[in-house]
Amino acid sequence: QRQTVGVIFGGRSGEHEVSLRSAATILSALDPEKYNPLPIGITRAGQWVTGPAASEMLSPTSSPDAVAALDTDAPALAPPAKVLTALADVLPQLDVAIPVLHGTYGEDGTIQGLFEMLGLPYVGCGVLASATGMDKIVMKQLFRQSGLPVVDFRWFARHEWVANAQRLTDSIVEELGFPLFVKPANLGSSVGITRVDDVSNFKSAVELAARYDRRIIVEKGYDVREIEVSVLGNDHPEASLPGEIISSAAFYDYADKYSPDSQSQLVIPARLTPDQTAAIRALAVRAFQALDGAGLARVDFFLLPQTGEIMVNEINTMPGFTRISMYPKLWEASGRSLPSILNQLIDLALARHAEKT
Ligand code: ADP
Ligand code: MG
Ligand code: MG
Repeated sequence: QRQTVGVIFGGRSGEHEVSLRSAATILSALDPEKYNPLPIGITRAGQWVTGPAASEMLSPTSSPDAVAALDTDAPALAPPAKVLTALADVLPQLDVAIPVLHGTYGEDGTIQGLFEMLGLPYVGCGVLASATGMDKIVMKQLFRQSGLPVVDFRWFARHEWVANAQRLTDSIVEELGFPLFVKPANLGSSVGITRVDDVSNFKSAVELAARYDRRIIVEKGYDVREIEVSVLGNDHPEASLPGEIISSAAFYDYADKYSPDSQSQLVIPARLTPDQTAAIRALAVRAFQALDGAGLARVDFFLLPQTGEIMVNEINTMPGFTRISMYPKLWEASGRSLPSILNQLIDLALARHAEKT
């Protein structure tokens, strides 16, 4: 008896487009002998769709250019009654769900909470790890409290900025200096992030970030090597070999991540000393456990070339899952194929569910 696996994609997120590509990859890699995949789309307006409408969302011709799509304003929210009817139609058919949603309303604990309420097993992190991992402020505070090295940062709420822009600017610049990275607290794929090299660009950077979230984080910027590790497991998580991103832009921004003519490169395995590799893999597992991770996550690091210092930049609890994405590529280099990773993730989801009930 094959298991019905709901692959959920799209969503009300700045990373809607990326999710479509990740989901297409997962749908094509699920072992057809074991699983009956059911594509489930969530439109930008939050409407759940299945059948031909879901497949249509995944067809390459229906996706506008990813970068351009970021600037389209979110459409009016679908009415709750309509969403509930759609959910009642589709969710009872599932044995397990894979929420292949990046960013808000998907990677942030919201859909995980829905599944918990329904008693439906799902792949990946639970509510707590998803929510804390998505929020760069809380994530970095928790990492710091767990003794993990993170960059210096400050944060403030949008309303504080509105009331006190000049005072905030002065105190942050004095404390952190330049360059700075200004980011919305909750998001990913570098959406809404600006590198700021002098004070004249600070205001516009904050205003951009404030379009995406009510809380803004400002970090001390460094010249960094960027190293990433895939983590897989529940109680005994395993870390893959590290990979390195060689970005071709001023930093690893949205276009560099996803545009077809991006010149950025993945170096797998990263060129590191055996000691550095071991240290980074151990930190990846500690970061995963600091937030009570489950299933999977990709943990991203900064390596400061001058001093050799290693810092945890962030955890991504639903990392990019396209054919060319780091998460599956790191496992491939560590000897595990995409279909076998998906089998394992589903088994981990079922094991975690069985533990709860
Ligand atoms: P996202 O969740 O959107 O990927 P990140 O915090 O990883 O957000 O930032 C995106 C990219 O911006 C990083 O991969 C890196 O290239 C650059 N970056 C972010 N913060 C810093 C920093 N403090 N110093 C140097 N580069 C940074
Ligand atoms: Mg991220
Ligand atoms: Mg990142």
